[in-house]
Amino acid sequence: MPENNIRDTVILGSGCSGLTAAIYAARSNLKPLVLEGHEPGGQLSITTLVENFPGWPDGIQGPELIENMKKQAVRFGAELRMAHLVSADLTKHPFELNLGNEVIQTRTLIIASGASARWLNLPSEQALIGYGVSSCATCDGFFFSGKEIAVIGGGDSAMEEALFLTRFASKVTLIHRREQFRASKIMLERAIAHEKINFLTNTTVEEVLGVEQKEVSGLKLRNLASQERYVLPVSALFLGIGHDPNAKMFTGQIDLDDDGYIRTRDNVFTRVPGVFACGDVQDRRYKQAITAAGSGCMAALEVETFLEEHGR
Ligand code: NAP
Repeated sequence: MPENNIRDTVILGSGCSGLTAAIYAARSNLKPLVLEGHEPGGQLSITTLVENFPGWPDGIQGPELIENMKKQAVRFGAELRMAHLVSADLTKHPFELNLGNEVIQTRTLIIASGASARWLNLPSEQALIGYGVSSCATCDGFFFSGKEIAVIGGGDSAMEEALFLTRFASKVTLIHRREQFRASKIMLERAIAHEKINFLTNTTVEEVLGVEQKEVSGLKLRNLASQERYVLPVSALFLGIGHDPNAKMFTGQIDLDDDGYIRTRDNVFTRVPGVFACGDVQDRRYKQAITAAGSGCMAALEVETFLEEHGR
């Protein structure tokens, strides 16, 4: 491939971290190529009002925030492409990215492919995402002040979401499909001890009610021990059943932890020089739009340094 067809940097993912990296890389005149991926815009694009992103005193709709970031990146010369990575060869330099119908060569790579929230995948649940169904208590809990809320899951995420939601909700019902919990003892005990949290174990959600009104009004539940079915009236459903980082395609080439998150050192460095990771694909702790944006900025600045040190 001729030298001038080799990219300086390719950014994998068009969520908050990928687009922030794109803005910084574009302003450094690196003409980044952003591969938008399976979920263009990332998790913000399926959120409604975002009230904790600094600079928006009245909040901003998640999709609008993402659209603004895209425009900002494109204005400085970023190229956005609807494509996803089939496979990558990070042993070669320049790196080779296989998009199925073409192979791209790049001197550096920013992996900002995010983590996808797990859903129950019920049609009614999917129809009500953003209308009372959410996978992010920090983002959406505030909207349900004084309301009864349900949280699904039996791990630390569910306990954390349930505890956080007690700040707003009049009552939180934590629904788990088994009797045993994966959550750490301390988190579980904290949730059990909380007066606003009620536990329903051996219970699954069969349907989220309120699709016609576009507003969650309750859950159709089934007790797995007795097979009894009943309706629990709630105004919101929060999924706390975990996230899946989108990094499987790099297995064996960079370090992943036991749950598949990319291991980084000094915030954004992977073990392959020239390959950086930012946002939720490497962050199992904060998972916020602003922290994803911050690490996207770091990744782009490190790309710039790398290219200066290794020649463009
Ligand atoms: P997790 O530990 O994998 O727990 C997921 C929970 O969701 C499990 O109880 C699982 O049930 C349930 N679940 C999964 N799919 C389901 C489905 N389709 N329907 C109903 N329930 C379903 O995930 P996590 O809670 O996100 O935690 C991931 C890691 O991050 C853990 O290592 C955790 O300790 C850590 N973390 C730590 C903190 C903290 O310390 N503050 C906070 C959050 C997360 P089963 O048990 O039946 O499989």
